[in-house]
Amino acid sequence: MKNIVIKGMLLAMCLIVFFVQDNFAQSKKEKIKVLIIDGQNNHKNWPETSPMMKGFLEETGLFSADIVTTPPEGQSMAQFKPSFQSYKVVLLNYNGDPWPQETMDAFEKFVREGGGVISVHAADNAFPEWKEYNKMIGLGGWGYRNEKDGPYVYYDDAGNLVKDNSPGVGGSHGKFHAFQVRTRNKKHPITKGLPELWMHNKDELYDRLRGPAENMEILATAYSAKEQNGTGRNEPMMMVIHYGKGRIFHTTLGHANESQQCVGFITYLQRGAEWVATGKVSQKAPKQFPTANDVLLRD
Ligand code: ZN
Repeated sequence: MKNIVIKGMLLAMCLIVFFVQDNFAQSKKEKIKVLIIDGQNNHKNWPETSPMMKGFLEETGLFSADIVTTPPEGQSMAQFKPSFQSYKVVLLNYNGDPWPQETMDAFEKFVREGGGVISVHAADNAFPEWKEYNKMIGLGGWGYRNEKDGPYVYYDDAGNLVKDNSPGVGGSHGKFHAFQVRTRNKKHPITKGLPELWMHNKDELYDRLRGPAENMEILATAYSAKEQNGTGRNEPMMMVIHYGKGRIFHTTLGHANESQQCVGFITYLQRGAEWVATGKVSQKAPKQFPTANDVLLRD
């Protein structure tokens, strides 16, 4: 009898050790590694938004994110050589000095071979001279971008996609305000199951972006109202781009901390990150989401 009890206890202990190890290995194995790059930005809140976005990604249980910070503006970038290949996704919260050629080459190789990229807000102002980068983000603004960089891309009021090669500056925005976002492709894994119309919290509504726009699909637009000093066009807010084997999710949203506290911004960031990493989205639509007329903020 005593032997049976001891054997039973040993077996139970072995099973516990086995399950704990297995779960540990699984949770470690399944995390998608994300590298957030910051360090220079005309948006001085970057030291706050990088940890916010790291938190938004990690709360899903799908991601593990590291933040790498470049040297400050004007200082030598020679030692900035992050190990892109150690990650599945690179999130760009960066708008600053050019990287060393070696680092740009490594980044291009990373994306071409299947790496995922997320471009957030002013990251599409960065690197106006870097041709391959502009292909990755599809559209960009400022940095003397104009007709040499590609067409304006937007939707007209009848719902047709317009590529407009007329001359003019790339990148502008009207007043900081809350605005409605409209999904243009409801079947994409990133947008599927989310409301077609939702009110985004106060943000800069980027307009007049231009770029190569190759292998790019616009997921959502917002109407840039003239009374807000906008263009009177339905401007692209979120896009997906294919570059080599790599996938890119580009959100123009996210100027201020309060813009990033919008549940819409957060949900799209989480889903976009999964899609660039895997080509799929397993996350369910959140129970609460901004409605067509009311913003919804995270505390
Ligand atoms: Zn901004």
